[in-house]
Amino acid sequence: MEVTKIEVGQLQTNCYVIHDKKSNEMLIVDPGADYKVIENVLKSINGKLKYIVLTHAHGDHIGAVKEIIDNYPDVKLLIHSDDALRLETPALNMSSMIFGYDISIIADEKLNDGDIIKLGDEEIGVIHTPGHSEGCICLLFGNELITGDTLFNGSIGRTDLIGGDYNEIINSIHSKILPLKDEIIVYPGHGPSSTIGKERVINPYLKGLV
Ligand SMILES: [Zn+2]
Ligand SMILES: [Zn+2]
Repeated sequence: MEVTKIEVGQLQTNCYVIHDKKSNEMLIVDPGADYKVIENVLKSINGKLKYIVLTHAHGDHIGAVKEIIDNYPDVKLLIHSDDALRLETPALNMSSMIFGYDISIIADEKLNDGDIIKLGDEEIGVIHTPGHSEGCICLLFGNELITGDTLFNGSIGRTDLIGGDYNEIINSIHSKILPLKDEIIVYPGHGPSSTIGKERVINPYLKGLV
């Protein structure tokens, strides 16, 4: 499967498009803003957009969701069950603080830990990693891991927002991410990509957990 990264919005959120070339199906992760930019990428890949998957419901990850749904009526919106209320509630998703207007969206399906999302014959695993918010997820497929705002290159997500919990994010990383193989590529919600092996060595938050 092919991963395309699109940096969107003032907070430079990484939106990712995953494309299964065999079936020509694709899904988009965290369309945070800049719909026109995203649309150009989707048109150039020219696949069938099956899902919008949100790693969590903070405003900087959801700003272009409505426009995608409006323009791709068959697309299904997926989010972890513990962040579904945040997606519906502007005070919890901080949309007016970020964009100056409220965003309230109801997901089509709620995800849970261990769920599989299918693109053609390919499988994308859902890993629940609470801590940055209650319903944060990572997505694992092949040797690739989308980590949202749970794990960054050299850092981890902040835990001072509503629903954040430092002990929980450390526990999520320790129990769900660190057991993964070194060669797995990490695609974070902000900033440059990394690998699990590199993070084990350079990430100050992971030291002592290896
Ligand atoms: Zn966030
Ligand atoms: Zn973010």
